[in-house]
Amino acid sequence: MIPATRKQKNDPAPATVAEWQRELAMAIRDAGELRSLLDLPGDAAGDAGFPVRVPRGYAARMRRGDPHDPLLAQVLPSAAEGREVPGFGPDPVGDRAAMIRPGVLHKYHGRVLLVTTGACGIHCRYCFRREFPYADANPRPDDWQAAIDYIAGDDSIEEVILSGGDPLSLSDHKLAGLVERIEAIPHVGTLRIHTRLPVVLPERVDDALCDWLSGTRLATVVVLHANHGNEIDASVGAAAARLRATGAMVLNQAVLLRGVNDKVQAMAELSRRLFAAGVLPYYLHMLDPVRGAAQFETGSEEARRLMAGVAALLPGYLVPRLVVEQAGRPGKTPLAHDWSGCRDGMTTPTLDSAGGPSTP
Ligand SMILES: *Cc1c(COP(=O)(O)O)cnc(C)c1O
Ligand code: SF4
Repeated sequence: MIPATRKQKNDPAPATVAEWQRELAMAIRDAGELRSLLDLPGDAAGDAGFPVRVPRGYAARMRRGDPHDPLLAQVLPSAAEGREVPGFGPDPVGDRAAMIRPGVLHKYHGRVLLVTTGACGIHCRYCFRREFPYADANPRPDDWQAAIDYIAGDDSIEEVILSGGDPLSLSDHKLAGLVERIEAIPHVGTLRIHTRLPVVLPERVDDALCDWLSGTRLATVVVLHANHGNEIDASVGAAAARLRATGAMVLNQAVLLRGVNDKVQAMAELSRRLFAAGVLPYYLHMLDPVRGAAQFETGSEEARRLMAGVAALLPGYLVPRLVVEQAGRPGKTPLAHDWSGCRDGMTTPTLDSAGGPSTP
């Protein structure tokens, strides 16, 4: 039963619409509305062609009155997006060239990535796919035949990664159908899902999702995407617990973002909150230089010092691997910790809040 107060004017038939789809349909789509919800005066910047989308539950985790809130910074368009910055282009990681079939990226040995949809539950301003031509990637969204044939024809493919966009923005009916076809390929043993929805809209992890996820013969890995500890509240913890209860391994990947998580304490806190939710940090990605995202960039020297600071505070299993995606390489490229800002032994790192060595 849907409470009467939730009813919206244009509600489709409730029988066919899941609660999470209802929530998603009510997402904030206007920067001005977001600012006023957070008591932030002033005008909103234009969206540079990438529209605002923020689930209301995610906005509720932002601090009111704080224009520098780390969650807000990920989703609010800024004037800086309109700037052209050398080195920041439309296809930073060479995905267009790597697309072997519509929607199929096979860059690394043993695993293929399927671009299942261009849709996401939230629009992150730094997104490396913000300029991606999804229409070309996926001409007929419900026809996976070319992808299935490709995977079936290459028995070195052991793992299929559902990505996007956000694969969990598809209905469970579509996903269950796709997974059934992947399962039928004998050499595939693992299904991986790259998704931000359980973080930004934890309602997405409902019974229908858990049913097909726990029912598959495939080993399952769910890689979440949270960038800041404040994104992980009790509802996200509960969603992660439901995912784990299906038997899935639950990991997190984050993107290193200036002004969001580029401080030792913020990064350490993200790992601690993930752990408390039963999630292990997997990767910390350097920002892909996509047009419109230069304001989030952190240099690799700074990143390597930052992660040394994190590694000096936490057990190894809570330290994500700092990696950069470089076109043409057979895997993500790791960046080593730079310990030069840390003292020897067990002393607290001397790194300042910016991740660099503090000035004496
Ligand atoms: C990142 C990525 C993967 C997954 O790499 P892992 O190191 O296994 O996490 C697979 N395919 C493509 C195209 C990717 O970009
Ligand atoms: S959820 Fe992921 S794919 Fe979607 S906009 Fe954010 S970073 Fe991009």
